[in-house]
Amino acid sequence: MGQNEISKMKNEIIKYGNKLGDKNMSPATSGNISVRCGENILITASGTCLADLSEGDIVLIDKNANIVEGMKKPSSEKNLHVAIYNLRPDINAIIHCHAPYTSAFAVSHIPLSKPIISENVFYFGEIPVAPYALPGSDKLVENTAKFFVKHDAVLLANHGIVIGAKDIKNSYYLMETAETFAQIYLNSMLLGGAKELSQKEIEEIYDLKQRSIQTSC
Ligand code: 13P
Ligand code: ZN
Repeated sequence: MGQNEISKMKNEIIKYGNKLGDKNMSPATSGNISVRCGENILITASGTCLADLSEGDIVLIDKNANIVEGMKKPSSEKNLHVAIYNLRPDINAIIHCHAPYTSAFAVSHIPLSKPIISENVFYFGEIPVAPYALPGSDKLVENTAKFFVKHDAVLLANHGIVIGAKDIKNSYYLMETAETFAQIYLNSMLLGGAKELSQKEIEEIYDLKQRSIQTSC
């Protein structure tokens, strides 16, 4: 992949890092973003603010998380990103952040699984909670990556959320969708609890999803 292409992808990371900041989903230096880049991966450097990135803050690493290009240390969660890419060839962009509403569920160990909004049933089914492990640790990778066999988004207990999709735009959209869902879910609790969709209504949504996957293939 040529330098022009790499620079274009870095600018996409910068753009969506800004958007995460605009929506208060990436406080201070929390979180990290990566995208597949041919055989390698572009990932934000450790300790960078996602809302305030420049091209020099994004590092090229290989499938073993070794630096290929860049002057900074790659994100401490690089092994988690690599493990998810290895498991899911359809995922090309990953966002990890400590967005406040999804993180509120993560610290409470409550999965985002209640079928209360059709859009969330459609996109996620369920967002489970992976057991806690120290940020940046091998144990965090072991506890979390396996959930991506069945899910595109996973809450990290006492930490935050990680989301993957086919490209960075869709990863960002899923992140906004999950964060809004968590906010609505929490607010509905204050109002006495949301009314769940029925099994029949849920199955209709799954059918709709199946049909939309078939027509997009
Ligand atoms: P990095 O700055 O090393 O990417 O770490 C941020 C983070 O959120 C760790 O979980
Ligand atoms: Zn984190």
